[in-house]
Amino acid sequence: MTLQLAPYAARSESSRGRIHEESSPGLRDEYQRDRDRVIHCSAFRRLEYKTQVFVNHEGDMFRTRLTHSIEVSQIGRTVARALSLNEDLTEAVCLAHDLGHTPFGHSGQDALNECMSEHGGFEHNLQSLRVVDVLEEKYASFPGLNLTYETREGILKHCSRNNAKQLGELGLRFLENRQTGLEAQIANVADEIAYNNHDIDDGLRSGLLNVEGLHTCALFAEHYDEVAELWPGLPEKRRRSELIRRMINALVGDLVENSRAAITASGIESIEDARQAGWSLVALSKEMQDKSLELKRYLRIHMYQDYRVQRMAHKARNIITNLFGLFMDDEKLLPLEMQARLQRRGEEKPRVIADYIAGMTDRYAIAEYEKLTDPRRHTT
Ligand code: MG
Repeated sequence: MTLQLAPYAARSESSRGRIHEESSPGLRDEYQRDRDRVIHCSAFRRLEYKTQVFVNHEGDMFRTRLTHSIEVSQIGRTVARALSLNEDLTEAVCLAHDLGHTPFGHSGQDALNECMSEHGGFEHNLQSLRVVDVLEEKYASFPGLNLTYETREGILKHCSRNNAKQLGELGLRFLENRQTGLEAQIANVADEIAYNNHDIDDGLRSGLLNVEGLHTCALFAEHYDEVAELWPGLPEKRRRSELIRRMINALVGDLVENSRAAITASGIESIEDARQAGWSLVALSKEMQDKSLELKRYLRIHMYQDYRVQRMAHKARNIITNLFGLFMDDEKLLPLEMQARLQRRGEEKPRVIADYIAGMTDRYAIAEYEKLTDPRRHTT
């Protein structure tokens, strides 16, 4: 189905292009090609075994970074289509947004950032860009995936000023306070809608959260009460799903309506106008933002800081910090492929080690740690 794109949507034919020039993708357009390259890359497959909140071996029912990315992309596409924006570009950004995440979720990223504090730090957004620009080794004529400017600008959601200065064109917007195109703005809010809701779902399922507590948050209470009234006595599992889908629906509906109004009021006529708008035109209404923030705060205190999540985070920090230290002390402990990379790239040793660790899945990192520290384990 060909849909009419709004004038301020990203258009494949007027893309700012790729770093390495390529012939046209034939049957697909440029953003479809970007999305397909993301799906076929190895970092994307590894997302299946990377923690969102729960470590993969804690249960088969919980979200992983792969299922999270798919949910983000589903929400993003719905919003893009409703706003007549480019769905393929939105999908490409959503699917790629977490490619640079370390194993073990945020505790892994914090630990690696600390290890790298003397060597330029570690930011997962920047790492996602590094994965698609440099680290993937798939194509004969260029490193990375050689994605379009628009997809790359969307992947780089945040960036410190220091790092922005080294990124040339792509980093400039952080220094000059400019926005991305609207498709990337969608991916950003879709990420937040997805994780708030699936963390509530997983939190309730795991017993880390309970209904009484969550009921103190307005958005949860509204929809919980509505479901309870419509279907009294509905089994817990189905009540939870009804509630979650209603919350996602309410957030997405609000996002579309509020963004549409903001876009119209701004009078923008092109993607470049959207970049210059000074603030993100794709946003929840103030009222919904407050409700979403209330839930986010609740989750931070009652889920992410729960002692069971913290215990895993503690183990994760230990694993990452120890691996980094061991490889820094003796690079001959690195697998041969990584040693070769170290020589071939002529790059700083800490960065190569950080790339190696960031690329690991949870279980690979645990195994690698055991191989290096447990004398009873095989070393390879
Ligand atoms: Mg995410």
